[in-house]
Amino acid sequence: TLHERLPRLTEHLEQWIIESKKQCQHGKVASYIPELAKGNAKALGIHFIDAHGNETSAGDTDTVFTLQSISKVFTLLLALMDNGEELVFNKVGMEPTGDSFNSMLKLELVQPGIPFNPLINAGAIAISSLIHGSSQSDKLERVLRFFRMLTGNENLQYNETVFESELQSADLNRSMAYFLKDNGVLEQSVDDVLDIYFHHCSIDATCKDLARMGLTLANNGYDPIQQKQLIPKRYVQIAKSFMVTCGMYNASGQFAIQVGLPAKSGVSGGILTLIPGTIGIGVIGPALNSKGNSIAGVNLLEKLSQHYDLSMF
Ligand code: GLN
Repeated sequence: TLHERLPRLTEHLEQWIIESKKQCQHGKVASYIPELAKGNAKALGIHFIDAHGNETSAGDTDTVFTLQSISKVFTLLLALMDNGEELVFNKVGMEPTGDSFNSMLKLELVQPGIPFNPLINAGAIAISSLIHGSSQSDKLERVLRFFRMLTGNENLQYNETVFESELQSADLNRSMAYFLKDNGVLEQSVDDVLDIYFHHCSIDATCKDLARMGLTLANNGYDPIQQKQLIPKRYVQIAKSFMVTCGMYNASGQFAIQVGLPAKSGVSGGILTLIPGTIGIGVIGPALNSKGNSIAGVNLLEKLSQHYDLSMF
């Protein structure tokens, strides 16, 4: 359980949150999507949940934020469940780029213009095009339903204000989508695919929701709270491999060395991570470092991992 694996966690967290919060001043809230600039640069919160439903949290855990790139892990899972491995990996590769998440640099390298992996923007846009549904609105509903099932939170919603803001500042993502379309990687209209992509990035959540989704990944797709296999184990294995190699953008190598857990960050400052087999963890800290990861959040996870010797390597 949480208390056996992480003894005296609550006491430690109190201190660590104070220390890690000092990092916030060295970071910046994302501003290329204007709505995200409203995030609280001083906030830091963390939530833990184990298979018995024991929970611990500390800091600013009621901060609501949009999932952003964290959603990419789960649209990948939904696309795998809808299409199988073979089809999905005709559209995206399996390798990290070493470039920033919105880079176009390597898009021409794998023919016919296939994105290196499903967690960079270009790859996630390709994945968004693979989600099944009888209509555009049916696809949007299926995506939201999938996140509601995984969080156990029926109140989860698309944040239309953030969605609109993303749509208004989408020139780079739009140009990548047109490139993919020209290469036959996208088969539907760019507008429809981006509508799905920006919507799943704009789902409002808290770090409790992240922890809950992390718990199911930690248990290979089995949700111990609902006592149901929600995702096939093989697909969760794929998703966690990507989290290790690409989940923290072009800081994934550093994160593997310093924290050593599968994780996925988003540009609004969330980090979803997990202790394999036992605990789901959600973090929010909107101030970002130069690679786009929560600066205080990464610092807090380093302390946690080092203190409890959590690295899987
Ligand atoms: N919606 C964001 C974008 O497309 C997601 C990026 C991120 O979280 N890194 O730019």
